[in-house]
Amino acid sequence: MTKLSASGLATFLKSPKSYFWRYKAGLEPSQPQVATFDHDKLLGVIWAQYTDRFYRGVGEATNAKAAMDAWLNGSEGWVPEKARVRLTTALENLMPQYYQHFSPEDGCRTAEQSELWLENDRFRGRLDGLSAENVVHEVKTTSRSPQVAEQLWKIGHSIQVKLYCVLADADGYCLEIAFKDPPHAILRAPIVRVTAEQKRGWSQELHALADRIESLGDDPNNYPCHSEGCCMTTKGMVSMCSYRDLCSGDISDEIKDLLYKKRVPQ
Ligand code: SF4
Repeated sequence: MTKLSASGLATFLKSPKSYFWRYKAGLEPSQPQVATFDHDKLLGVIWAQYTDRFYRGVGEATNAKAAMDAWLNGSEGWVPEKARVRLTTALENLMPQYYQHFSPEDGCRTAEQSELWLENDRFRGRLDGLSAENVVHEVKTTSRSPQVAEQLWKIGHSIQVKLYCVLADADGYCLEIAFKDPPHAILRAPIVRVTAEQKRGWSQELHALADRIESLGDDPNNYPCHSEGCCMTTKGMVSMCSYRDLCSGDISDEIKDLLYKKRVPQ
């Protein structure tokens, strides 16, 4: 069986049938969509790459140009102008702060352990970084919310952080949030220490989840979703799950080939 990633596990927990379409059938929507917040995901990836280059010693001007080029090219033609301007401004404001507030030698991660791939016999993961003291460094971009403590709790208790701590046999994790809304700011939270007992419990959780996923096999009917997840309602937007056409079961192969493409595993 293909090794399970943090995004695969998180997808299964949220929407088992999406997991089936994406990771078992190997399909993904042909085009990125604003309705599924792909522009926010793109910015998150570009921000992770920016911090990776920072810790690898790339100079500010070169790093900023690479990030801005990736954002402008990647968002062209499908992200509405208003959202594009808002996120471009966020990137412009956040990037210089990284060089002002942090240093590649600040110990948060080593150059050799920036964007680090780890795996064991069942799981795999790409950490944003790992320090010489064996602390996982995880960076996120998110909308500003007054509930910062709750946001940190949510990330700290995510399946992703648990997986990374288990894979790295880490002694702690350090979370960092870059806020996409004004006033744009970057919050680096204090290191949270992780005990051997916690890691044993998380490892047990991960294996129980993997056992469950493996037991479901190749039949899409073994992957029920709660219909709550089919339609997402957020501030100012109502959007549908990108796999709804496959779930409806009444599309022709021609339309299916138009709407979905084979996913290239990362
Ligand atoms: S459309 Fe609904 S049932 Fe189908 S994968 Fe998406 S969330 Fe699950």
